[in-house]
Amino acid sequence: MSSKKTHDTNSHNHNHCIETALATAETLCVEQGQRLTKVRRRALELIWESHRPLGAYQLLAKLAEEGFNSAPPTVYRALDFLLNAGLIHKVESMNAYLGCAHADKVHQGYFLICDDCHNVMEFDYQDIHSALIAKAETQGFELRAKTIELTGLCADCKTLPEGARP
Ligand SMILES: [Zn+2]
Ligand SMILES: [Zn+2]
Ligand SMILES: [Zn+2]
Repeated sequence: MSSKKTHDTNSHNHNHCIETALATAETLCVEQGQRLTKVRRRALELIWESHRPLGAYQLLAKLAEEGFNSAPPTVYRALDFLLNAGLIHKVESMNAYLGCAHADKVHQGYFLICDDCHNVMEFDYQDIHSALIAKAETQGFELRAKTIELTGLCADCKTLPEGARP
């Protein structure tokens, strides 16, 4: 899916998304006394290349191309760092990573995943989370899932005829 042409950069200024994400990352790292090393920063930037989640092996290949130490432990450590810092989320159903647009707020990840273009939109809905926990508790069930992933068709794909979709 990484080679497919995407329309997501046409519908908004994606450079703005990338710049904001990197600026937030810099600020958060300073606040948390962490270092946004070169490989962490580049990994974040690569994940933010689009709104489609990036798999660990795709990330590894891209970093290798650029001459980074792309041994799997290095890449996984960078991913762990970004996850723990709240800068990215793991989209479990795609086994891939997505940049978080509200990294500076504590939240759970709620995702709308487009079946056609594989773009993922995150939405912020703490009420749903509290309601789900409460509901599960009435069944004596302890929720462990950190994300909710919903599939469907995004607004852009909906307007395209089936054959023209990415
Ligand atoms: Zn964007
Ligand atoms: Zn998020
Ligand atoms: Zn779509």
